[in-house]
Amino acid sequence: MSAPETINLLIKARWIVPVIPENKIFEDCALAIDKGVILALLPQEEAEKRYAPAQTLNLGNHVLIPGLVNAHGHAGMSLLRGYADDIPLMQWLNDHIWPAEGQWVSDQMVRDGTELAMAEMIRSGTTCFSDMYFFPEQAAQAAQQAHMRAQINFPILDFPTAWGSGPEDYLHKGLALHDDFRASPLVRIGFGPHAPYTVSDEPLEKIAVLSQELDAPVHIHLHETAQEIADSEQQYGKRPSVRLLELGLMSPLTQCVHMTQVNDTDLALLEQTGAHVIHCPQSNLKLASGFCPVQKLIDAGINVALGTDGAASNNDLDMFSEMQSAALLAKAVSGQADALNAHRALRMATLDGAKALGLEETTGSLEVGKAADITAVDLSALDMQPLYNPVSQLVYTNCGHRISHVWVGGKALMLSRQLQTLNERELIGKARWWRKQIGR
Ligand SMILES: [Zn+2]
Repeated sequence: MSAPETINLLIKARWIVPVIPENKIFEDCALAIDKGVILALLPQEEAEKRYAPAQTLNLGNHVLIPGLVNAHGHAGMSLLRGYADDIPLMQWLNDHIWPAEGQWVSDQMVRDGTELAMAEMIRSGTTCFSDMYFFPEQAAQAAQQAHMRAQINFPILDFPTAWGSGPEDYLHKGLALHDDFRASPLVRIGFGPHAPYTVSDEPLEKIAVLSQELDAPVHIHLHETAQEIADSEQQYGKRPSVRLLELGLMSPLTQCVHMTQVNDTDLALLEQTGAHVIHCPQSNLKLASGFCPVQKLIDAGINVALGTDGAASNNDLDMFSEMQSAALLAKAVSGQADALNAHRALRMATLDGAKALGLEETTGSLEVGKAADITAVDLSALDMQPLYNPVSQLVYTNCGHRISHVWVGGKALMLSRQLQTLNERELIGKARWWRKQIGR
């Protein structure tokens, strides 16, 4: 028998749900990790014979899953959590959020808000997030420093904000940022045109050309409300989706956030272009925006990822409660109790998110050769008992506060609920300081 192979880390767990192979739960197995990559998923006895790990972790009451992918948010906005509630989208934006942002958004606000958001995301099992907010260079640096995987989308709007004077300025700054992070293993820079109703044709056309040239993603709020469709039909004589298609903006690089309004034309258009949909059920519910027909999209072969949206419209960044909402809402909207079953909901929050962000070769499942982006959930507590099926527990019992360990690329971001790359106490202090400044 050959000598055991030296590796960095062996994680033994009661259950492992790798997402691929689909619908599979491994019991009493282990993940072997070396140089940040998954080497093997194998029975614990075999792992002990085959490997000499520098470190072994025994998680006897836990399930290991791929780190969750939060495919849409505005991390900097976590400092506006609970700032304005119970108001419909356009009134919420026009009368509350945009004026507050006009007054308070700065590089420091975005840095502190993003770190607060990342700490919350790590604590609830998220390892990768897609973000759209002002001062994206702050979010990109913060993600890299905290060792989270991220797609940072720089905003583009017709009007000036604290970050820029108009479309040309936003594009100029964003392209420089794209250049700065070209070689980053963790952070990818994308285009973030806010929405069809805040960006006119000319900059959208430019974005279409540049994103193809750079092979960079385009992240856009689309078909969030029925009003958006009605306004577009009046102003442009067409639906926003058709307008984007004609401007060359619908492709596999495009991530359409929300899509609560989907007719047969939209369905065919998404299917033919390979654009992705990002579903944000709790934000849509809270702002009374509408219901995304998730099961219908999935049945048509369209990739649907999951996102929390910003903390100002959710009001948390917990992907487990988002998964639960998505699974429940899909059943209500389709009238089918088997719509978005538990395994499928978990896949939507992991692999399908990675796919939407173009990261399916790197993350989203616990497969050999992929990055060791792993979340461990402790299922020993009273509210997890009795346990017949760990995947049922993951999706339907709201267990985001039961996350114990989180790794990205084999590096620990949380061990036994202690953050390793961010300072929890310091962040609470900063959030309280901002609360005093922003007032209400
Ligand atoms: Zn959003």
